[in-house]
Amino acid sequence: MVEIYQPEAIETTLATDFTKVFGQAPTATYFAPGRINLIGEHTDYNGGRVFPCAISLGTYAAVKMREDRVIRFYSANFPDKGLIEVSLDALDYAPEDSWTNYPKGMMHFFDLHGYALDRGFDVFVNGNLPNGSGLSSSASIEMLFGKILVDLFNFTIEPIEVVKIGQEVENKFIGVNSGIMDQFAVGMGQVDHAILLDTNTLDYQLVPIELGDYKIVIMNTNKRRELADSKYNERRSECEKALALLQKAIDIKTLGDLDKDTFDEYTALIQDDVLIRRARHAVFENQRTVQATEALNNGNLAEFGRLMNASHVSLEYDYEVTGQELDTLAHSAWQHGAIGARMTGAGFGGCAIAIVPTAAIPDFVTAVNADYQQAIGYDAAFYIAEIADGPKKL
Ligand code: ADP
Ligand code: MG
Repeated sequence: MVEIYQPEAIETTLATDFTKVFGQAPTATYFAPGRINLIGEHTDYNGGRVFPCAISLGTYAAVKMREDRVIRFYSANFPDKGLIEVSLDALDYAPEDSWTNYPKGMMHFFDLHGYALDRGFDVFVNGNLPNGSGLSSSASIEMLFGKILVDLFNFTIEPIEVVKIGQEVENKFIGVNSGIMDQFAVGMGQVDHAILLDTNTLDYQLVPIELGDYKIVIMNTNKRRELADSKYNERRSECEKALALLQKAIDIKTLGDLDKDTFDEYTALIQDDVLIRRARHAVFENQRTVQATEALNNGNLAEFGRLMNASHVSLEYDYEVTGQELDTLAHSAWQHGAIGARMTGAGFGGCAIAIVPTAAIPDFVTAVNADYQQAIGYDAAFYIAEIADGPKKL
């Protein structure tokens, strides 16, 4: 039988773990969440809306300033990498620096934007987010270090600027061509709220999430997102092609500018069936995201769930970014009492989410895992998503 994952109580051992590694006590501890996207998938690079929230699983750190220009990193999640030492004078990307390229990237771009560091620090990191599972452990570690830098060096910088630096790190330092959703959700999250973000304008609205007798269950395929990067780039360029064809006749900047009716009227311009399906997902998903937010504002959780299901169907058949593992989880969740279930994140593995009556969760998890075992041959993993605040000092 598969159990709901109980996250490790990292916070209680953070200071002693730091001391074991560095031989003295830390002066401050921090946390940054991970994120799930409730609806609005693959819309963020199409000028559309997304609707993510920060979750209580995330990444912790303990730190202590140094007098010199050295930074020493240790992550309990990558013990085989040991202690990694970096100089403030060498903050370029280096493959041998492994995971520390994320914090190095943050420091590199803080520096470029005029927030220079004059001293190093020792830092111990430990997270309870599965890495590479689409819950954005990378945005979590970026925003964690954003918070640490702002706090240690007393920088005056708006949180949205830290969010943008996180995206810059991902795009220009790590080399992942992602939109702004992940860093925004992690950096701007607020407990019990999701964020309706217009990725065209960066206007956003915090929407209270009142689930009553329901909870959000995260279902992890335990499959790494292998093809994710190349397929992701392929989808981006397919959408760009479809947009260029539509722009011959209509004055739009992004697919997010289109409503369903206008899209239907002009579909013939795209001609290619695959491109039509990709663009249709981008346009319809954007509209669904607005409708889903309205449904929540009206307390209509059933309609919200229906829109989540429609989102998955669109991602499965029109956008083709799900794969057998995510489809098995979503379809099984629909059969076993979820009022809504869909993949979340970029797809091709990673996680799905389901809204499930709290009392039914143990039976739900058992039934979904049995289906998953049978179809895929190994277990899925299950977590409860509590909606949390953005980065904070503990
Ligand atoms: P995702 O963001 O979906 O979890 P990514 O591949 O984008 O997957 O990011 C995962 C990478 O982020 C890890 O390989 C590692 O380099 C870094 N990372 C995330 N969490 C931690 C952590 N707790 N300690 C060290 N590095 C981490
Ligand atoms: Mg990532």
